[in-house]
Amino acid sequence: MGKDADIARRIQQISLPFIPYGRQQIGEDDIEAVVEVLRSDWLTTGPQVARFEEAVAAFAGGRHGVAVSSGTAALHAAMHAIAVGPGDEVIVPAITFVATANCAAYLGATPVIVDVDPATLLIDPEQVRQHITPRTRAIIAVDYAGQPCDYASLRQIADEHNLYLVADSCHSLGAEYRGRRVAEIADLTVFSFHPVKHITTGEGGMVVTNTAELAERMRRFRNHGISTDHRQRESLATWFYEMTELGFNYRISDIGCALGLSQLKKLPDWLARRREIAALYTAALQNIAEVQPLHAAGDVMHAWHLYVVRLAASVDRAAVFQRMRAKNIGVNVHYLPLHLHPYYRQRVSPAVLQLPAAEAAYGQILSLPMHAGLTDDDVMRVVSTLWQAVAGAC
Ligand SMILES: *Cc1c(COP(=O)(O)O)cnc(C)c1O
Repeated sequence: MGKDADIARRIQQISLPFIPYGRQQIGEDDIEAVVEVLRSDWLTTGPQVARFEEAVAAFAGGRHGVAVSSGTAALHAAMHAIAVGPGDEVIVPAITFVATANCAAYLGATPVIVDVDPATLLIDPEQVRQHITPRTRAIIAVDYAGQPCDYASLRQIADEHNLYLVADSCHSLGAEYRGRRVAEIADLTVFSFHPVKHITTGEGGMVVTNTAELAERMRRFRNHGISTDHRQRESLATWFYEMTELGFNYRISDIGCALGLSQLKKLPDWLARRREIAALYTAALQNIAEVQPLHAAGDVMHAWHLYVVRLAASVDRAAVFQRMRAKNIGVNVHYLPLHLHPYYRQRVSPAVLQLPAAEAAYGQILSLPMHAGLTDDDVMRVVSTLWQAVAGAC
């Protein structure tokens, strides 16, 4: 690149800074909360973990929270709690992050990948019904983009067939379905606190449940399958512990939970801001015929982890993606459908895996930047750039 072109590019990047699709918000209050823990006696499982568990469970509408080292560990713990094992089948939607299916595979079970509703990209209850076999143990519903699934239908199907209903709510902390908060419906509800999610602990996750026995199993599972933790032993003045089942070290730190507690205070404001941004996008995008936001149902409170649009079939999504990135707009694609990942492609019968709704959507979807730190001007810059990118004018 010539010197002048290089300078021109740098000027453009300064005037049009990169807008990531998702990003954490860290304030001085968060930093102080973490520093306070660093000066205290506990770095790992201490008082902040229990406080964070109670606060998130209360916020999400469940009785017990079990915090672990990631959303993936939380999904694994949830599958362990309901004793999923070899020979079992767990129904999952095609459009999700790989961890939703991997948690069943970790335990030797088979994830059964089913198609999604083409309007919302949420798991299609009719597809769930059609894939139930005598081996089915659980359904994992994913609140894709932050929109709760059709839980009335899913709960009914789960109860009819005596299945566990697990909500992968990694996108939907703060969402409501028909006036009920996300953790009030499923048997186990899973959250992630990765930095792109609504609140962060650095890395972290949690399962919320109303069943004390399931919570107890997950507490053991995150600590090697040992029945007491080190603080309990200290307060009982005993050295004795025993391992009753095979577990992992999936503990989360007090450092992370102090950050999470500090973040949680700001979550209601952040959710409100995400809803404002979504409304701005939806209004502005009405002017671009080739761009259709995903359907948002009227009877839910969407948490807007992602703002996903669908481009008309005539539009070249790859070209739009490249043009947006060239203009410093961090668009993304969520997700390559599960059954198209080589790992799963090799493990499922191709006859079973024709998932037309997921496959058609995958070629057309684009996630626009969505996080509480976006300004109205950022949103307008994204929309006007998208308009140019679709028209091939940039
Ligand atoms: C983020 C995410 C996970 C995994 O969470 P980690 O904390 O990154 O392990 C699982 N499922 C979905 C739908 C997610 O978005």
